[in-house]
Amino acid sequence: MTPIEFIPSSDFAIGVDIGGTKINAGIIDRNGQILLQHHLPTLAQQGEVLNQVKTLISKLLSEYHYSFDGTSLKGIGIGSAGQIDWNKGSIRYANSLIPGYTGTKLKDELEHEFTASVIVDNDVNCLALTEKYLGAAQNKRNVICLTLGTGVGGAILIDGKIIHGAWGGAAEIGHMTVDFNGVPCHCGSIGCLEQYASGTGIAWRMQELLMKQGIGTTQIEAKKIIADWIKGDPTAALVMNQAIAALGSAIASLVHIFNPEAIIIGGGVAEAGAPLIDGIKAEMKKRAMSSLVEGVDIFAAYKGNLGGMIGAALQLWEYEEMGTRVNLQSADKI
Ligand SMILES: [Zn+2]
Repeated sequence: MTPIEFIPSSDFAIGVDIGGTKINAGIIDRNGQILLQHHLPTLAQQGEVLNQVKTLISKLLSEYHYSFDGTSLKGIGIGSAGQIDWNKGSIRYANSLIPGYTGTKLKDELEHEFTASVIVDNDVNCLALTEKYLGAAQNKRNVICLTLGTGVGGAILIDGKIIHGAWGGAAEIGHMTVDFNGVPCHCGSIGCLEQYASGTGIAWRMQELLMKQGIGTTQIEAKKIIADWIKGDPTAALVMNQAIAALGSAIASLVHIFNPEAIIIGGGVAEAGAPLIDGIKAEMKKRAMSSLVEGVDIFAAYKGNLGGMIGAALQLWEYEEMGTRVNLQSADKI
């Protein structure tokens, strides 16, 4: 059996989304359709992230042969949690959610292992690519994406392009200050959006409130708080109204800075659906200048959790130049 070749003209690529709890990997075509997919828990504490990614890719490669008679792939696209050095394709910084992950040279390691061109970016930037080609950002040039999960992530699309900043660290929207007298954040700042609007932040705020009310401090998940809020629980409403105010205020600032056409919100917290989206919309409109906010709509992210994996693969076509910069051994042989 001839090995699968990595060639620039292929219409298929591997996409891997590395999150704090789960790694999703799949073979995706250039239209964003998923041919094959596999998932593994991240095993963050065991420092196994890189090996797990390699395992998933190997599995996909062998199944691609057998199930689809696949012979070529364009490359490997990775979307990862943490701050990514975009040119080097390495993890510049990852917090304690994935211990020991900082410094991992994903691009170098995977290029060496699979003799493939590899592009690595932040997971939310990958999600934004999926939105650009398949989701609510289609036919739009200026869009802001937020993901409300364990943390709050961001991506900013300006003139049709994702902005990366000096080395890839741009759009840390979760660490915009929304209350300069607010609660301390693990990043060193105070009153960051993430402290109020991430799943973790929502749970902390609820615990704080219950302690003040003298009602125990047992662990509560954001999912339950959101469900209680939708059912009309007044304490859950206090926490969620604070999250909505924090999001509305951050988004109003972003609207003033970037003049976007749309805002897209994804992540576990966004599964709250219409009550959350409508709440944020109202709060944004209240806080932003009407000339700028007029016509700006807020949408839920495309395909929920798989958007990151799809976008990771789409990088191979979005950044053709970056992908072909690698001097592939397979190409050398031709
Ligand atoms: Zn922060």
